[in-house]
Amino acid sequence: MSKPDHSDSSDQHNDTMKKRKTQIDAGIVRAGEERGVMILLTGNGKGKSSSAFGMAMRSLGYGFKVGIIQFIKGKQLSGEELFIREKHPEVYFEQMATGFTWDSQDRTGDIAAAEATWAHAQKLLQDDRYHLVILDELTYMLAYSYLDEEMVLNALRSRPEQQSVVVTGRGGGEALRQLADTVSELRDVKHAFKSGIKARKGVDY
Ligand code: ATP
Ligand code: MG
Repeated sequence: MSKPDHSDSSDQHNDTMKKRKTQIDAGIVRAGEERGVMILLTGNGKGKSSSAFGMAMRSLGYGFKVGIIQFIKGKQLSGEELFIREKHPEVYFEQMATGFTWDSQDRTGDIAAAEATWAHAQKLLQDDRYHLVILDELTYMLAYSYLDEEMVLNALRSRPEQQSVVVTGRGGGEALRQLADTVSELRDVKHAFKSGIKARKGVDY
């Protein structure tokens, strides 16, 4: 029995990889600008906040200063909150104090809470010691007009040149998308919760 001959497909593969390397190298040469980026993680699928926290981990690995502001305080304590408060107290970490909830009937209270939380964000966005600032679930504050859009966009625009910002949440408007350097839309292909599986500790919260 003879072995199957893969030499053709293997030559083809090498060729493809060579072309790809040339393209990537050219891309690296083009991407010569060194500045902080604004990243928007949006869409209905799972993975927005957890991706943002992944970038916090990356920055912390290099000893960079990180600030995280969460615009919706969940009813449930999360693993990321425990991790940061207990293991990384050097991270600037704030959550919306009064706990904005979806069933809130108190618009005035919500606006006051959003503005108080925004004050922390604004402070970080003016401080060039912070390498990475995460504004988790900020989009909802814009979607509900709890925060003035121009005020938010201006603060993002005028942040220190080397500072990166990650904004998460569904929606948030076209202007925010335009301003971002990177926009990823998480698509909900399927989610365990919809087939009756309970949210998992350490996975979902
Ligand atoms: P994660 O924090 O897991 O990255 P996320 O930030 O993309 O999720 P959010 O809308 O902020 O999504 O929701 C937070 C919680 O809701 C998490 O427990 C997450 O697992 C869950 N979740 C996210 N997307 C879905 C979905 N499409 N269906 C059901 N539950 C979801
Ligand atoms: Mg989230």
